[in-house]
Order: sequence, then C-alpha cells, then structure tokens
Amino acid sequence: MNKFNIEEEIKPLPIHDYAFLKTEEVIFSEEVREICKGNSCGLYDTSWACPPAVGSLEECQKQCLKHEDAFIFTTATQMKDSYDVQGWLEAREEHEKVTDQVGEVFRKYTKSPLILSTEGCSVCKSCTYPNEPCRFPEKMYPATEGYGILVMKQAQLCGIKYNNGINTVTYFSMIFFN
Ligand code: SF4
Repeated sequence: MNKFNIEEEIKPLPIHDYAFLKTEEVIFSEEVREICKGNSCGLYDTSWACPPAVGSLEECQKQCLKHEDAFIFTTATQMKDSYDVQGWLEAREEHEKVTDQVGEVFRKYTKSPLILSTEGCSVCKSCTYPNEPCRFPEKMYPATEGYGILVMKQAQLCGIKYNNGINTVTYFSMIFFN
C-alpha cells in the first residue's frame, strides 16, 4: 500500500473523517444481519447490494478477510432540519460520488479493492434483482451493514464520529484492500 500517495490524492475530497485499520480489527456481527432481515430500511431482498444477495455473514466476512487492510471514511452534511428528506437524499448521492472517487484512488494504488458503501444501490432506476445479473458490478457497492459490519462500534474503535451533531447526516464507506 502506498499510504502517502493515497492520502495525498484524497486530500481535496470532501471527506469528514477517515482511518486506516487492519481487517482483523473489523467488527462483524450476526445482530446487524438480523436487523437487515427485519427490513427496517425496506431494502432487504431488493437488490444485488444487500442481503440475502450478498451471501451469508460468513461469506461476506471471508471476502473482507481476503484483504489485509481496510480504510473507513465518512462524509457529513448539514440538513435544514430533521425533516429535510431531500437534503438527506442529496447527501447520500454526494457520498456515493465521493465513494466513487475514493474507490478510484484505491484502484490505482491497491489490488482489487472491495468497496462497501451505504444501504441498497441507486445506480439503476430499476434493479435487475433477482431475475438478471447486476448490470454494473464494478459500480455497485454492497452495503457496509449488509456485510454484517457493526458500523457504530467500528467508528468508535477507529476514532471516527458516528454522529456529527444536530441536523447532520453522516454516511460511511469502507474499502478493503491489499
Ligand atoms: S448496479 Fe443496477 S442492477 Fe446492479 S445492484 Fe445496482 S441497481 Fe441493481
């Protein structure tokens, strides 16, 4: 890994917090997958980016642990108020753009990085799931929680704020790499 080059290239991006960690420090939890099954976000079983399509917790964990290192980052956006649904959607769109850019940097300096991001997948207007294969597997980032990662605790462990204050929305992505 060329940490210096990576840090230089991501410097201009609107990343709020980030940390490098070892994959052995990543916190996986069956409970997170149970929350997915409860479908509180309404996205369970709706795309290739979420459970059950991403595979079992063990399969997800195995994919992550194929890599030695990981990178976690956030974007944080101020909302007008707690009902600002449009602002919340735009913030997610912006976060995905930043994830694309950070992903490009890791593709340049590391081998076959695994990129995880926010819930679901918004690349296509209508997902092919479950009838046809994913149209854009290189653009589709599975959900971090969908892989069973306990983001709240992970953030704490990495010294990253999970919540950045009243009326802000904080989104997370993670990249696994060698
Ligand atoms: S890229 Fe398109 S087909 Fe693939 S998971 Fe996302 S929405 Fe579905």
